Amino acid sequence: MEISGYSIDLEKTVKTITDEGYKIVALQLPEGLKSYASKFVEFLENKTDVTVIIIADSCFGACDIPNYQLKNLDVDFVIQIGHTPIPDIVDIPIPNLFINAQSKTNIDKVVEKSINHLDGKKIGIVATAQHLHEIKNVCDILTNHDFEPVVSEGDGRIYANGQILGCNFSAAINILENVDSFLFLGSGNFHPVGLLICSKKPVVAADPYTNEVKKLELEELKDTILRQRYGAIANSKNSKKFGILIGIKQGQQRMDLAFKVKDLLKEFNRKSMFIALEFFSPTALQCFRDIDCFISTACPRIAIDDYLLYKKPILTPIELEIVLGKRKWDDYQFDQIINI
Ligand code: SF4
Repeated sequence: MEISGYSIDLEKTVKTITDEGYKIVALQLPEGLKSYASKFVEFLENKTDVTVIIIADSCFGACDIPNYQLKNLDVDFVIQIGHTPIPDIVDIPIPNLFINAQSKTNIDKVVEKSINHLDGKKIGIVATAQHLHEIKNVCDILTNHDFEPVVSEGDGRIYANGQILGCNFSAAINILENVDSFLFLGSGNFHPVGLLICSKKPVVAADPYTNEVKKLELEELKDTILRQRYGAIANSKNSKKFGILIGIKQGQQRMDLAFKVKDLLKEFNRKSMFIALEFFSPTALQCFRDIDCFISTACPRIAIDDYLLYKKPILTPIELEIVLGKRKWDDYQFDQIINI
């Protein structure tokens, strides 16, 4: 099925539903595809005997694992469109299928355009899920221009070679020693800037949708983000009471880390309490008036990307170490979710 410039293999879901005899299916869609919800419902309900329930809550990534509460609605199968699964997460309470949305936008032009911006000869290739199928093509284009493309597998959170998530850059970190710079294929700034901070190597972002190539902008954005992080850390030095944020979404839960953070705060005579949330928002946190600073063990984007939305500082666990003097600013690391 082709929708809004994406190829989505819904036929695969039809086969699974028919083979397994599922009756009630929940469908999770990313924001960009929600306006096509009725098309998905019609397709599945016409081709099978299922009733489809659209999950209207936001679904930002594969970390948003179908919740056991769906069983209360008699849901016996969950389909998540637009993300690849996180291989490490196996104990999902309801049978499910992740169906990627592969971009049909041609990437040749923007990759050719990026050639003059690349540093060195050995180029690490990384992409978001929507463009993974183009990695081989990108490698061929680069090889034709006498570059040596390098693509690596990631850790257990990563589904395909060369894939990066906003919370996991292991497919790039694995080849740090073997590359001069990185070429990122995808849209938005969070992934390439995160890669820039994690890898400390030059990054060029090629956006197939806008045909834009970014390099200097990424460096500037990185400096802005690091300045903001430095400010947030400085503002938290005198914090006495901390809220440790725990993600309820299965793929964002880092309970071991949350307990380590609590222990660390105790060691430094700071008060803390756990606060668990499924959807983080300024409104949800504003009632905790006596909390001076939040430490997020959930999606790293909450602290970094949504920084300006919140009135109180939200830090990553690594940044807390800097606040408490356990780590130096020069040793700043981007928070990643590694193998949970
Ligand atoms: S934790 Fe955040 S960055 Fe990672 S997959 Fe989920 S939404 Fe994306």
